[in-house]
Amino acid sequence: MSFPLSRAESRRFAIAAAAAIPLVLLHGCGRQPSDEPPPESVESEPATDAPAVDLSPVRDFPEKFPRRTHLPDMREAEASGAVSNSMFSAGRDLVYVEDDRVWWESDNDGEDDDECDHSMNKAIVLPFRRLVELCAASNATLRVQECYRPSGIHSTLSLHKEGRALDLTCPMLDPDNPNPEKPTLKSLEILAKLAWAAGFDWVYFEVPRNSGPHIHASVRRADPD
Ligand SMILES: [Zn+2]
Repeated sequence: MSFPLSRAESRRFAIAAAAAIPLVLLHGCGRQPSDEPPPESVESEPATDAPAVDLSPVRDFPEKFPRRTHLPDMREAEASGAVSNSMFSAGRDLVYVEDDRVWWESDNDGEDDDECDHSMNKAIVLPFRRLVELCAASNATLRVQECYRPSGIHSTLSLHKEGRALDLTCPMLDPDNPNPEKPTLKSLEILAKLAWAAGFDWVYFEVPRNSGPHIHASVRRADPD
């Protein structure tokens, strides 16, 4: 598929989004992050009663998204807001998200790791759902490599500590990619464009020195209820 999308393709995405079954938000990673209260359990309403959520893209697809660049052209802390520390509460701000069209790293990396990639900040769920629809419309499996991680590998300023950032790949977006588990740079460029269209506040085509390339996408804090 070529990007940006043709009008017909955009329409197909819109139809797919409108027909989408709401994500069921259920409680229960194998293990919850250690000393944090468990995320809130939310179950979707029955389909007949649930208000239709429009999961169509909310921005145009950028023509290019080169590696090691980000949109918008400003620092993440300006676009998505800095880590709030005292204002963040795992029990209040995180929800457990399930979607069987998505591959979740924490479901596949053994019992020794207490990471739970299903735990997401409420503020990131809607753009994530839009992105799931966009990838599914291309018959490609979105892979969540990382979301909420309260301790460990990330810097103290990382939005992963509040579940406001996702690390994503989607190798099958590149039709020439022979390996459905390993992203090509082409697949990542397409994914970056989709993530931007899906409405994340900051999207970065990240090529780290010590780990695999991926798309890091983050959002601003939700307004207080
Ligand atoms: Zn990240």
